[in-house]
Amino acid sequence: MDDRLRYAPCGYVSITHEGIIKDVNHTFLDRMGYKQVDLVHKHFESIMSTANKLIFHSYFYPFINLNGQVEELFINLKDSEGKAVPYLLNGRRLECEGVEIIDCILVQMGKRIDYELELRSAKKQIEVAYWEKDQALAELKRIHLEIEQKQAELMEMNAVLVELSNTDKLTGLKNRRFLQEKLEEQIVGYGRDQAAFSLCIIDIDHFKKVNDTYGHQTGDYVLEKMASILKLQSRKEDIAARYGGEEFVLLLPNTDISESKNIAENLRKSIAYSTWEMGQITVSIGVATFIPTDSEATLLQKADQALYTSKEQGRNRVTHSIDLNEKLL
Ligand code: GH3
Ligand code: MG
Ligand code: MG
Repeated sequence: MDDRLRYAPCGYVSITHEGIIKDVNHTFLDRMGYKQVDLVHKHFESIMSTANKLIFHSYFYPFINLNGQVEELFINLKDSEGKAVPYLLNGRRLECEGVEIIDCILVQMGKRIDYELELRSAKKQIEVAYWEKDQALAELKRIHLEIEQKQAELMEMNAVLVELSNTDKLTGLKNRRFLQEKLEEQIVGYGRDQAAFSLCIIDIDHFKKVNDTYGHQTGDYVLEKMASILKLQSRKEDIAARYGGEEFVLLLPNTDISESKNIAENLRKSIAYSTWEMGQITVSIGVATFIPTDSEATLLQKADQALYTSKEQGRNRVTHSIDLNEKLL
């Protein structure tokens, strides 16, 4: 063996067809901690573990016999301390002076295996990171959904609260606060399109007597029934509200003087002709129709004056404030 092969940058082992080491270079001996005498004439398999012997038998010999060569066989060889050193082996069969020998080149694989391990661990880390990302994303989606649900619940609750804050508890009609809001809106709307609108104040006649005679509970029942008649009689756009104790207000959008009188009169009649367990129940109604010089207060005042007149003139009747003015003139 010449020096170039002896000190080549890879291991070189020459074996017989039976696997007996014929020659080995210095690079391999040096790396594995052997001396020439330790290996020459020994079987190549003497520096292999049982598992590697099996690989050698099932891969190396069949390939050499079939193709005359083996490429990139990955194999572990034991060094002088018995430690496994990974190698990549290329072998080729050739005839030398009538004798068959197999030359093997052995490239140590330590670095490559380290790289592979690093790569594998990096891949694992990436997989873990991806998994964690997916988990986080799923959690984020879940939280997002929960927030949306809570928001919807909150909006629902808000709507219920708004409805409650606008509603009279006993009768289920709109309350005074809501009516005032709507009245303001009507006045603003009037400034925009001059659409006529009217308002009725409805007061139960001698209601105190109902309470005194039949008790407060029956009085409450009358208030509730009165509310349902009001709801039934009013149009979709009208707003029926409980204004105070036994007083109700009906706000009538797009309603002029004569129409408001008709509506009020029909309402009065349907109350008077309703069947009440405690005898006849009647209401007095005061009506007012908005004019440009009116405010929320003057409109209510005019309706209240008209109501007062209805009471004064014997109750169970309707008075429109316009008729008061005419009388005053
Ligand atoms: P008028 O015909 O002049 O309107 O006489 P009235 O008795 O209806 O009027 P008054 O103002 O003297 O009495 C109103 C009564 O309404 C007094 C009060 O006890 C009663 N009232 C007010 N709120 C309620 C309520 O929520 N439930 C019951 N049962 N009674 C109520
Ligand atoms: Mg009253
Ligand atoms: Mg009354």
